[in-house]
Amino acid sequence: MFVAADKDGNKVLIENAVEGVEYFCPVCGRGVIIKAKGSLAVAQHFAHKKGESCPDKWRYDMSEWHRTWQNWFPKECQEVVVENNGVKHRADVLINGTVIEFQHSPITAEEIAERNKFYAACGYKIVWVFDAEGKIKNEFDDTIDPMRCREEDLCWKRAKREFSIKMPENVKVYLEYKTTDLIETQEREEDGILLLTRKVEPKQITFYKTDEHIHCLNFLKEYGAPINGEVLSVTEIIQKTIAHQFNQRPQVGQVTIQLKPVRIVTKIVRRHYSRGRRGL
Ligand SMILES: [Zn+2]
Repeated sequence: MFVAADKDGNKVLIENAVEGVEYFCPVCGRGVIIKAKGSLAVAQHFAHKKGESCPDKWRYDMSEWHRTWQNWFPKECQEVVVENNGVKHRADVLINGTVIEFQHSPITAEEIAERNKFYAACGYKIVWVFDAEGKIKNEFDDTIDPMRCREEDLCWKRAKREFSIKMPENVKVYLEYKTTDLIETQEREEDGILLLTRKVEPKQITFYKTDEHIHCLNFLKEYGAPINGEVLSVTEIIQKTIAHQFNQRPQVGQVTIQLKPVRIVTKIVRRHYSRGRRGL
């Protein structure tokens, strides 16, 4: 976990944790220790003491990627304990009625389904962000820039079992990856782009094609994280794209107005006008 409680029950982020101070698991209340300081494999985090177990048996992703994403959100939205019928789990982020799960490490379809079921039973919408860096290819071309692909062109490099999952309506799945192959050359290489998926199948990814890339800031705007400046939300980017496509489409079935009947119309209007005058 990246967020623990101090002895007064206040939330403490791992970044603010001090060696020697006591911290506690927000689910079971047992003492936790600071782990993996300076590790390259995982991010520094809180963990239960050796030999002590927690009733929350879910495996939580402890990657730097995960932590960076989570830290974009306010402290009170991070690792929120959610309880249903006495069962407690920690949502990576809970904001405005939406649970956001960030997943870098492998996870099974069963685990994903279990989490969806749990959070849905609590009345929340669920958003998954998978770290898909290095895992996506284009079946027909070299580019994996979503603005240069058709929405069915992308697929997994190696089809994995965990991706053969059915996503219910209240669940959205984003895939994040980096590409140096971007149309807009001014974009920084390290900028990740997000795909909002329509379908995630074992061998194919279908995504919402947009006129501009979806970045971290657009995602944060979508879900209500505080950000500075004018930024479009994901929904706004999609709507803008749809409006743009609609305007470009030839207007089929539009009636051409003939100019001939104009004289007749004018006469009728005049008659009405003169009647109106008489009534005054
Ligand atoms: Zn615990």
